[in-house]
Amino acid sequence: MLCIKNGIVVDGINPEPYKADILVDGKEIIEIASEISTVADVTIDAAGKCVLPGFVDAHCHLREPGYEYKEDIGSGTRSAAAGGFTSIACMPNTHPAVDNAALVNFIKMRALEERAAKVYPIAAVTKGLKGEELTEMWELKKAGAVALSDDGKPIMNAGIMRLALQYARGFDMLIISHCEDLQLTGDGVMNEGYMSTVLGVKGITRAAEEVMVARDIILAETLKTPVHIAHVSTRGSVELIRQAKKRGVKVTCETAPHYFSAADEWVDGYDADTKVNPPLRTADDVEAIIEGLKDGTIDIIATDHAPHHRDEKEVEYSLAASGISGFETAFSLAYTHLVEPGVISLHQLVEKMSTRPADILNIDGGRLQVGKTADITVVDPAKEYTVDVSQFHSKGKNSPFHGRTLKGKVVHTIVDGRVVMENEKILV
Ligand SMILES: [Zn+2]
Repeated sequence: MLCIKNGIVVDGINPEPYKADILVDGKEIIEIASEISTVADVTIDAAGKCVLPGFVDAHCHLREPGYEYKEDIGSGTRSAAAGGFTSIACMPNTHPAVDNAALVNFIKMRALEERAAKVYPIAAVTKGLKGEELTEMWELKKAGAVALSDDGKPIMNAGIMRLALQYARGFDMLIISHCEDLQLTGDGVMNEGYMSTVLGVKGITRAAEEVMVARDIILAETLKTPVHIAHVSTRGSVELIRQAKKRGVKVTCETAPHYFSAADEWVDGYDADTKVNPPLRTADDVEAIIEGLKDGTIDIIATDHAPHHRDEKEVEYSLAASGISGFETAFSLAYTHLVEPGVISLHQLVEKMSTRPADILNIDGGRLQVGKTADITVVDPAKEYTVDVSQFHSKGKNSPFHGRTLKGKVVHTIVDGRVVMENEKILV
Protein backbone atom coordinates (compact mmCIF):
# COMPACT_ATOMS: atom_id res chain seq x y z
CA MET A 1 0.00 0.00 0.00
CA LEU A 2 1.01 3.59 -0.68
CA CYS A 3 -0.07 6.57 1.39
CA ILE A 4 0.25 10.20 0.31
CA LYS A 5 0.02 12.24 3.47
CA ASN A 6 -0.61 15.85 4.46
CA GLY A 7 -1.14 17.25 0.96
CA ILE A 8 -3.70 19.74 -0.30
CA VAL A 9 -5.96 17.70 -2.58
CA VAL A 10 -7.38 19.21 -5.76
CA ASP A 11 -9.39 16.22 -6.91
CA GLY A 12 -10.91 17.33 -10.23
CA ILE A 13 -14.41 17.20 -8.72
CA ASN A 14 -14.63 19.63 -5.78
CA PRO A 15 -13.81 23.24 -6.74
CA GLU A 16 -12.42 23.80 -3.22
CA PRO A 17 -9.04 22.23 -2.36
CA TYR A 18 -8.91 20.34 0.94
CA LYS A 19 -6.24 18.79 3.13
CA ALA A 20 -6.33 14.99 3.06
CA ASP A 21 -4.36 11.76 2.99
CA ILE A 22 -4.81 9.35 0.09
CA LEU A 23 -4.41 5.60 0.49
CA VAL A 24 -3.67 3.41 -2.52
CA ASP A 25 -3.85 -0.37 -2.69
CA GLY A 26 -2.54 -1.91 -5.90
CA LYS A 27 -3.80 0.24 -8.75
CA GLU A 28 -6.71 1.71 -6.83
CA ILE A 29 -7.43 4.63 -4.52
CA ILE A 30 -9.11 2.99 -1.52
CA GLU A 31 -9.42 5.88 0.91
CA ILE A 32 -9.34 9.68 0.96
CA ALA A 33 -9.64 11.10 4.48
CA SER A 34 -8.36 13.95 6.59
CA GLU A 35 -6.13 11.56 8.54
CA ILE A 36 -5.35 7.97 7.56
CA SER A 37 -3.64 5.91 10.25
CA THR A 38 -3.19 2.70 8.22
CA VAL A 39 0.50 1.88 7.98
CA ALA A 40 1.44 1.73 4.31
CA ASP A 41 4.55 0.13 2.73
CA VAL A 42 5.44 3.43 1.11
CA THR A 43 4.60 6.87 2.45
CA ILE A 44 5.01 10.11 0.54
CA ASP A 45 4.94 13.24 2.66
CA ALA A 46 3.13 15.88 0.62
CA ALA A 47 3.08 18.63 3.28
CA GLY A 48 3.09 22.01 1.52
CA LYS A 49 2.37 20.32 -1.81
CA CYS A 50 -0.76 19.86 -3.92
CA VAL A 51 -2.03 16.41 -4.85
CA LEU A 52 -3.72 16.33 -8.25
CA PRO A 53 -5.18 13.76 -10.64
CA GLY A 54 -2.36 12.74 -13.03
CA PHE A 55 -2.23 14.98 -16.09
CA VAL A 56 -3.70 13.65 -19.34
CA ASP A 57 -2.17 14.89 -22.58
CA ALA A 58 -4.45 14.71 -25.59
CA HIS A 59 -1.75 15.66 -28.09
CA CYS A 60 1.88 14.59 -28.21
CA HIS A 61 4.42 13.15 -30.62
CA LEU A 62 6.45 10.17 -29.42
CA ARG A 63 8.19 9.69 -32.83
CA GLU A 64 8.25 5.89 -32.68
CA PRO A 65 8.26 4.09 -35.09
CA GLY A 66 10.63 5.69 -37.56
CA TYR A 67 12.10 8.74 -35.85
CA GLU A 68 13.67 7.21 -32.74
CA TYR A 69 16.60 9.62 -33.09
CA LYS A 70 14.15 12.40 -32.05
CA GLU A 71 12.32 10.44 -29.32
CA ASP A 72 11.08 6.94 -28.61
CA ILE A 73 8.29 5.58 -26.46
CA GLY A 74 10.74 4.98 -23.59
CA SER A 75 12.26 8.47 -23.50
CA GLY A 76 8.89 10.04 -24.33
CA THR A 77 7.02 8.36 -21.50
CA ARG A 78 9.80 9.16 -19.00
CA SER A 79 9.61 12.78 -20.15
CA ALA A 80 5.83 12.68 -19.71
CA ALA A 81 6.18 11.26 -16.18
CA ALA A 82 8.70 14.00 -15.35
CA GLY A 83 6.07 16.51 -16.42
CA GLY A 84 3.38 14.88 -14.25
CA PHE A 85 1.54 13.21 -17.15
CA THR A 86 0.17 9.78 -16.34
CA SER A 87 -1.73 9.24 -19.61
CA ILE A 88 -0.75 10.57 -23.02
CA ALA A 89 -2.31 10.28 -26.45
CA CYS A 90 0.24 10.18 -29.26
CA MET A 91 -0.25 11.42 -32.80
CA PRO A 92 0.12 9.05 -35.75
CA ASN A 93 2.55 11.06 -37.92
CA THR A 94 5.35 8.55 -37.46
CA HIS A 95 7.15 6.60 -40.17
CA PRO A 96 5.21 4.64 -41.21
CA ALA A 97 2.11 6.56 -40.15
CA VAL A 98 -0.22 4.79 -37.70
CA ASP A 99 -2.97 4.12 -40.22
CA ASN A 100 -3.64 0.42 -39.59
CA ALA A 101 -4.48 -1.87 -36.67
CA ALA A 102 -1.04 -3.55 -36.63
CA LEU A 103 0.66 -0.23 -35.91
CA VAL A 104 -1.87 0.68 -33.21
CA ASN A 105 -1.03 -2.66 -31.59
CA PHE A 106 2.69 -1.99 -31.95
CA ILE A 107 2.38 1.33 -30.06
CA LYS A 108 0.34 -0.32 -27.32
CA MET A 109 2.83 -3.18 -26.99
CA ARG A 110 5.82 -0.83 -26.80
CA ALA A 111 4.01 1.29 -24.21
CA LEU A 112 3.49 -1.77 -22.02
CA GLU A 113 7.25 -2.39 -22.05
CA GLU A 114 7.89 1.22 -21.00
CA ARG A 115 5.73 1.80 -17.98
CA ALA A 116 6.45 5.41 -17.06
CA ALA A 117 3.12 6.66 -18.45
CA LYS A 118 0.10 5.11 -20.12
CA VAL A 119 0.04 5.61 -23.87
CA TYR A 120 -3.13 5.87 -25.95
CA PRO A 121 -2.59 5.82 -29.72
CA ILE A 122 -4.39 8.27 -31.97
CA ALA A 123 -4.69 6.80 -35.47
CA ALA A 124 -4.72 8.48 -38.87
CA VAL A 125 -7.89 9.77 -40.53
CA THR A 126 -6.50 9.09 -44.01
CA LYS A 127 -4.10 6.47 -45.31
CA GLY A 128 -0.50 7.63 -45.08
CA LEU A 129 -1.80 11.03 -43.85
CA LYS A 130 -2.23 11.89 -47.51
CA GLY A 131 -5.68 13.39 -47.06
CA GLU A 132 -7.11 11.23 -49.85
CA GLU A 133 -8.48 7.89 -48.71
CA LEU A 134 -10.08 7.17 -45.32
CA THR A 135 -8.53 4.60 -43.00
CA GLU A 136 -10.42 1.55 -41.67
CA MET A 137 -11.77 3.43 -38.67
CA TRP A 138 -13.59 0.52 -37.10
CA GLU A 139 -10.47 -1.67 -37.25
CA LEU A 140 -8.46 1.13 -35.67
CA LYS A 141 -10.99 1.58 -32.90
CA LYS A 142 -11.10 -2.16 -32.19
CA ALA A 143 -7.30 -2.19 -31.99
CA GLY A 144 -7.40 0.56 -29.35
CA ALA A 145 -7.10 3.92 -31.11
CA VAL A 146 -8.78 6.56 -28.91
CA ALA A 147 -9.23 9.21 -31.61
CA LEU A 148 -8.37 10.00 -35.22
CA SER A 149 -6.15 12.75 -36.58
CA ASP A 150 -3.86 13.54 -39.49
CA ASP A 151 -2.03 15.97 -37.19
CA GLY A 152 1.07 17.52 -38.68
CA LYS A 153 -0.92 17.83 -41.86
CA PRO A 154 -4.34 19.33 -42.48
CA ILE A 155 -7.06 17.48 -44.37
CA MET A 156 -7.18 19.98 -47.20
CA ASN A 157 -10.08 18.42 -49.09
CA ALA A 158 -13.33 19.54 -47.42
CA GLY A 159 -15.19 16.63 -49.03
CA ILE A 160 -12.82 14.12 -47.41
CA MET A 161 -13.12 15.91 -44.06
CA ARG A 162 -16.91 15.81 -44.31
CA LEU A 163 -16.87 12.11 -45.10
CA ALA A 164 -14.40 11.46 -42.26
CA LEU A 165 -16.67 13.24 -39.74
CA GLN A 166 -19.65 11.19 -40.94
CA TYR A 167 -17.85 7.86 -40.69
CA ALA A 168 -16.18 8.70 -37.39
CA ARG A 169 -19.54 9.52 -35.86
CA GLY A 170 -20.78 6.05 -36.84
CA PHE A 171 -17.92 4.52 -34.86
CA ASP A 172 -18.18 7.06 -32.03
CA MET A 173 -14.65 8.31 -32.68
CA LEU A 174 -13.43 11.85 -32.24
CA ILE A 175 -11.60 13.62 -35.05
CA ILE A 176 -8.86 15.99 -33.96
CA SER A 177 -8.25 18.56 -36.67
CA HIS A 178 -4.94 20.26 -37.42
CA CYS A 179 -6.37 23.46 -38.88
CA GLU A 180 -4.10 24.92 -41.52
CA ASP A 181 -4.74 25.97 -45.11
CA LEU A 182 -1.47 25.07 -46.82
CA GLN A 183 -2.01 27.49 -49.69
CA LEU A 184 -2.33 30.31 -47.19
CA THR A 185 0.69 29.11 -45.23
CA GLY A 186 2.74 29.11 -48.41
CA ASP A 187 6.41 29.18 -47.48
CA GLY A 188 5.83 31.25 -44.33
CA VAL A 189 7.70 30.23 -41.19
CA MET A 190 6.52 32.65 -38.47
CA ASN A 191 3.43 34.71 -37.70
CA GLU A 192 2.77 37.35 -40.38
CA GLY A 193 2.84 40.84 -38.93
CA TYR A 194 5.10 43.56 -37.61
CA MET A 195 7.74 41.13 -36.30
CA SER A 196 7.99 39.10 -39.52
CA THR A 197 8.47 42.36 -41.44
CA VAL A 198 11.12 43.63 -39.02
CA LEU A 199 12.97 40.33 -39.05
CA GLY A 200 12.61 39.84 -42.80
CA VAL A 201 11.13 36.38 -42.33
CA LYS A 202 8.23 35.07 -44.44
CA GLY A 203 4.97 35.25 -42.49
CA ILE A 204 2.00 32.95 -42.05
CA THR A 205 -1.34 34.76 -41.94
CA ARG A 206 -3.67 33.92 -39.06
CA ALA A 207 -6.24 33.23 -41.78
CA ALA A 208 -4.38 29.99 -42.60
CA GLU A 209 -5.63 28.64 -39.27
CA GLU A 210 -8.93 30.49 -39.04
CA VAL A 211 -10.44 29.53 -42.41
CA MET A 212 -9.96 25.87 -41.50
CA VAL A 213 -11.40 26.35 -38.01
CA ALA A 214 -14.42 27.99 -39.67
CA ARG A 215 -14.69 25.16 -42.22
CA ASP A 216 -14.57 22.44 -39.60
CA ILE A 217 -17.12 24.23 -37.42
CA ILE A 218 -19.48 24.51 -40.41
CA LEU A 219 -19.02 20.82 -41.26
CA ALA A 220 -19.55 19.71 -37.64
CA GLU A 221 -22.56 22.00 -37.31
CA THR A 222 -24.31 20.79 -40.47
CA LEU A 223 -23.55 17.12 -39.71
CA LYS A 224 -24.21 17.53 -35.96
CA THR A 225 -20.97 15.65 -35.28
CA PRO A 226 -18.28 16.46 -32.73
CA VAL A 227 -14.92 17.85 -33.83
CA HIS A 228 -11.87 18.77 -31.78
CA ILE A 229 -9.64 21.61 -32.92
CA ALA A 230 -5.94 21.11 -32.15
CA HIS A 231 -3.50 23.79 -30.99
CA VAL A 232 -5.63 26.96 -31.22
CA SER A 233 -3.31 29.97 -31.52
CA THR A 234 -5.20 33.06 -32.73
CA ARG A 235 -7.77 35.52 -31.43
CA GLY A 236 -9.93 34.82 -34.48
CA SER A 237 -10.00 31.06 -33.84
CA VAL A 238 -10.98 31.59 -30.21
CA GLU A 239 -13.84 33.86 -31.29
CA LEU A 240 -15.06 31.41 -33.98
CA ILE A 241 -15.13 28.59 -31.43
CA ARG A 242 -16.77 30.79 -28.77
CA GLN A 243 -19.62 31.70 -31.14
CA ALA A 244 -20.00 28.09 -32.36
CA LYS A 245 -20.28 26.82 -28.78
CA LYS A 246 -22.99 29.42 -28.11
CA ARG A 247 -24.93 27.97 -31.07
CA GLY A 248 -24.56 24.48 -29.64
CA VAL A 249 -22.00 23.12 -32.09
CA LYS A 250 -20.19 20.10 -30.63
CA VAL A 251 -16.77 21.66 -31.00
CA THR A 252 -14.04 21.26 -28.39
CA CYS A 253 -10.53 22.61 -28.59
CA GLU A 254 -7.11 22.76 -27.06
CA THR A 255 -4.26 25.17 -26.89
CA ALA A 256 -0.65 24.46 -25.98
CA PRO A 257 1.38 26.16 -23.21
CA HIS A 258 3.56 28.10 -25.67
CA TYR A 259 0.52 29.91 -27.09
CA PHE A 260 -0.18 31.59 -23.74
CA SER A 261 3.45 31.85 -22.61
CA ALA A 262 5.32 33.25 -25.61
CA ALA A 263 4.74 35.58 -28.55
CA ASP A 264 6.34 36.28 -31.92
CA GLU A 265 8.81 38.78 -30.41
CA TRP A 266 10.61 35.70 -29.17
CA VAL A 267 11.65 34.99 -32.77
CA ASP A 268 13.93 38.05 -32.59
CA GLY A 269 17.41 36.55 -32.67
CA TYR A 270 16.21 33.75 -34.97
CA ASP A 271 16.32 31.07 -32.27
CA ALA A 272 14.89 28.05 -34.13
CA ASP A 273 13.52 26.70 -30.84
CA THR A 274 10.82 29.38 -31.20
CA LYS A 275 9.70 27.79 -34.48
CA VAL A 276 6.47 25.90 -34.05
CA ASN A 277 3.39 25.14 -36.15
CA PRO A 278 1.08 27.04 -35.83
CA PRO A 279 3.61 29.80 -35.16
CA LEU A 280 3.90 31.89 -31.99
CA ARG A 281 1.45 34.76 -32.49
CA THR A 282 1.30 38.34 -31.17
CA ALA A 283 0.79 39.56 -27.61
CA ASP A 284 -2.84 40.31 -28.58
CA ASP A 285 -3.40 36.68 -29.57
CA VAL A 286 -1.79 35.51 -26.32
CA GLU A 287 -4.29 37.70 -24.47
CA ALA A 288 -7.17 36.14 -26.44
CA ILE A 289 -5.93 32.60 -25.69
CA ILE A 290 -5.83 33.46 -21.99
CA GLU A 291 -9.37 34.90 -22.19
CA GLY A 292 -10.50 31.71 -23.96
CA LEU A 293 -9.00 29.56 -21.23
CA LYS A 294 -10.64 31.70 -18.56
CA ASP A 295 -14.15 31.67 -20.04
CA GLY A 296 -14.07 28.00 -21.01
CA THR A 297 -14.00 28.48 -24.79
CA ILE A 298 -10.69 26.57 -24.75
CA ASP A 299 -11.49 23.24 -23.11
CA ILE A 300 -8.06 21.82 -22.49
CA ILE A 301 -4.32 22.40 -22.48
CA ALA A 302 -2.38 19.83 -24.52
CA THR A 303 1.40 19.87 -24.87
CA ASP A 304 1.85 19.22 -28.60
CA HIS A 305 5.16 17.78 -27.32
CA ALA A 306 7.22 17.73 -30.51
CA PRO A 307 10.83 16.66 -29.87
CA HIS A 308 13.46 17.11 -32.57
CA HIS A 309 17.13 16.33 -32.92
CA ARG A 310 19.56 19.21 -32.34
CA ASP A 311 20.70 19.04 -35.98
CA GLU A 312 17.16 19.76 -37.16
CA LYS A 313 17.07 22.98 -35.16
CA GLU A 314 20.64 24.25 -35.59
CA VAL A 315 20.00 25.43 -39.12
CA GLU A 316 18.65 28.54 -40.81
CA TYR A 317 15.26 29.55 -39.32
CA SER A 318 13.34 28.83 -42.52
CA LEU A 319 14.81 25.31 -42.74
CA ALA A 320 14.45 24.34 -39.07
CA ALA A 321 11.93 21.71 -37.97
CA SER A 322 8.80 23.00 -36.18
CA GLY A 323 8.03 21.99 -32.63
CA ILE A 324 8.77 22.32 -28.94
CA SER A 325 9.70 19.57 -26.48
CA GLY A 326 6.82 20.31 -24.15
CA PHE A 327 6.09 17.68 -21.50
CA GLU A 328 8.56 18.88 -18.91
CA THR A 329 7.56 22.55 -18.86
CA ALA A 330 3.77 22.29 -19.45
CA PHE A 331 2.60 22.40 -15.83
CA SER A 332 5.11 25.06 -14.77
CA LEU A 333 4.19 27.31 -17.71
CA ALA A 334 0.49 26.92 -16.95
CA TYR A 335 1.01 27.51 -13.24
CA THR A 336 3.25 30.54 -13.81
CA HIS A 337 1.11 32.22 -16.48
CA LEU A 338 -2.42 31.19 -15.48
CA VAL A 339 -2.70 30.20 -11.81
CA GLU A 340 -0.10 32.44 -10.17
CA PRO A 341 -1.55 35.67 -11.71
CA GLY A 342 -5.07 34.53 -10.75
CA VAL A 343 -6.45 33.98 -14.27
CA ILE A 344 -7.75 30.53 -13.33
CA SER A 345 -7.71 28.50 -10.11
CA LEU A 346 -5.65 25.37 -9.61
CA HIS A 347 -8.92 23.42 -9.75
CA GLN A 348 -9.64 24.91 -13.19
CA LEU A 349 -6.11 24.04 -14.31
CA VAL A 350 -6.70 20.46 -13.18
CA GLU A 351 -9.89 20.44 -15.23
CA LYS A 352 -7.92 21.57 -18.30
CA MET A 353 -4.94 19.25 -17.82
CA SER A 354 -6.57 16.16 -16.31
CA THR A 355 -10.35 15.94 -16.08
CA ARG A 356 -11.55 17.31 -19.41
CA PRO A 357 -8.85 15.70 -21.57
CA ALA A 358 -9.72 12.31 -20.03
CA ASP A 359 -13.41 12.95 -20.73
CA ILE A 360 -12.83 14.19 -24.30
CA LEU A 361 -10.73 11.12 -25.12
CA ASN A 362 -13.12 8.92 -23.13
CA ILE A 363 -10.27 7.31 -21.18
CA ASP A 364 -9.66 6.47 -17.53
CA GLY A 365 -8.30 9.24 -15.32
CA GLY A 366 -8.81 12.87 -14.46
CA ARG A 367 -10.28 12.51 -10.97
CA LEU A 368 -9.11 11.50 -7.51
CA GLN A 369 -11.87 9.40 -6.02
CA VAL A 370 -12.20 6.21 -4.01
CA GLY A 371 -12.46 3.29 -6.43
CA LYS A 372 -10.64 5.17 -9.20
CA THR A 373 -7.26 4.29 -10.68
CA ALA A 374 -4.37 5.79 -8.69
CA ASP A 375 -2.95 8.13 -11.34
CA ILE A 376 -1.65 10.96 -9.16
CA THR A 377 0.63 13.95 -9.61
CA VAL A 378 2.07 15.87 -6.66
CA VAL A 379 3.25 19.42 -7.34
CA ASP A 380 5.10 22.01 -5.32
CA PRO A 381 3.35 25.31 -6.11
CA ALA A 382 5.96 27.39 -4.29
CA LYS A 383 9.02 26.03 -6.02
CA GLU A 384 10.78 28.39 -8.43
CA TYR A 385 13.38 27.02 -10.80
CA THR A 386 15.19 27.80 -14.01
CA VAL A 387 14.40 25.59 -17.02
CA ASP A 388 17.47 23.65 -18.13
CA VAL A 389 16.94 21.52 -21.24
CA SER A 390 20.03 19.45 -20.45
CA GLN A 391 17.98 18.02 -17.55
CA PHE A 392 15.09 16.94 -19.83
CA HIS A 393 14.34 13.24 -19.97
CA SER A 394 13.10 13.79 -23.51
CA LYS A 395 15.64 13.31 -26.28
CA GLY A 396 14.30 16.61 -27.64
CA LYS A 397 16.10 19.54 -26.01
CA ASN A 398 14.25 22.02 -28.23
CA SER A 399 12.58 24.52 -25.93
CA PRO A 400 12.44 28.31 -26.16
CA PHE A 401 11.89 28.31 -22.38
CA HIS A 402 15.46 27.21 -21.61
CA GLY A 403 16.91 29.62 -19.05
CA ARG A 404 13.51 31.02 -18.03
CA THR A 405 12.49 31.03 -14.38
CA LEU A 406 9.13 29.40 -13.71
CA LYS A 407 7.06 28.76 -10.61
CA GLY A 408 5.36 25.48 -9.69
CA LYS A 409 7.05 22.13 -10.20
CA VAL A 410 6.00 18.52 -10.45
CA VAL A 411 7.71 16.48 -7.72
CA HIS A 412 6.06 13.03 -7.66
CA THR A 413 4.18 11.07 -10.34
CA ILE A 414 2.20 7.91 -9.62
CA VAL A 415 0.86 5.72 -12.44
CA ASP A 416 -1.51 2.83 -11.69
CA GLY A 417 -0.44 3.04 -8.04
CA ARG A 418 3.29 2.79 -8.89
CA VAL A 419 5.61 5.66 -8.01
CA VAL A 420 7.34 6.46 -11.33
CA MET A 421 8.85 9.76 -10.17
CA GLU A 422 9.80 10.53 -6.58
CA ASN A 423 11.30 13.86 -5.51
CA GLU A 424 11.84 14.78 -9.17
CA LYS A 425 13.77 11.56 -9.77
CA ILE A 426 12.46 9.16 -12.43
CA LEU A 427 12.46 5.61 -11.08
CA VAL A 428 11.65 3.66 -14.26
ZN1 LIG B 1 -0.79 19.88 -35.48
